[in-house]
Amino acid sequence: MQKTFSPSSLGCFERCPKQYHFRYVLKLPVETETIEAFVGKRVHEVLERLYRFVGRGMVPSLNKVLQRYRQSFDDRFDPERTRIVRDDAGLDFYRDNGARGLENYYRRFYPFDADETLGLEKPIHFTLDDAEQYTVRGVIDRIVRSRDGVLEIHDFKTGRRIPRQKELDNDRQLGLYELGLRKLWREEGVVRLVWHYLLPDKMRSSLRTPEQREALRNDTTLHIDRIRNESDWTPRKSQLCRWCEYRAHCPLFGGDG
Ligand code: SF4
Repeated sequence: MQKTFSPSSLGCFERCPKQYHFRYVLKLPVETETIEAFVGKRVHEVLERLYRFVGRGMVPSLNKVLQRYRQSFDDRFDPERTRIVRDDAGLDFYRDNGARGLENYYRRFYPFDADETLGLEKPIHFTLDDAEQYTVRGVIDRIVRSRDGVLEIHDFKTGRRIPRQKELDNDRQLGLYELGLRKLWREEGVVRLVWHYLLPDKMRSSLRTPEQREALRNDTTLHIDRIRNESDWTPRKSQLCRWCEYRAHCPLFGGDG
């Protein structure tokens, strides 16, 4: 029985049970990654490094930040491994988008002294229940104490789309991280969930009531039960199949998985 779940694995099962089976049950090795995931990793690394410098009292210049990003992008990019799915966009488009998002963030928050960083790329591991049957893990991009004393959970997004407020108020990823931080840090005050949409240069936030937190806890345990009881692993065709790294194994595309 699978013991630990993450917001990504829970979302994967919802989008396509077959993909979940390939990734989390059979654990098929993956030899490629999408350009979107590649850019996301480079941007997250650079922001983590930026805040580590800030924590030591040194604010790197925007030029240095962008130079670091471009160097890391070019050094790590492997055309054999990283896939560009869209026909209308090339490597420069993705590289420039990452740089633009970083520049937007830098200009908005420079000199980065409006709040206090409590954690960066912080792994989190906690149970939803006292019997410890439902374990969740994840990584929080940035944990912050704001000037007004509120604990904040920040998430950096490198995609273009900004979800509507209603979607954010139901977002599972940061909602679960809030449950985890409240439990692990014994936090009883207000916790603010904050998203940074780097490319469109927008910020969004959400506050959850105790009732919403309880509903999320219950929904998540039910969702985990559904995954544990699954046996069919039916493939679910969608636009996302173009980005799926298991397509060659998928029965909908001629695979024998
Ligand atoms: S190709 Fe599509 S249907 Fe098949 S496993 Fe991947 S996401 Fe699911």
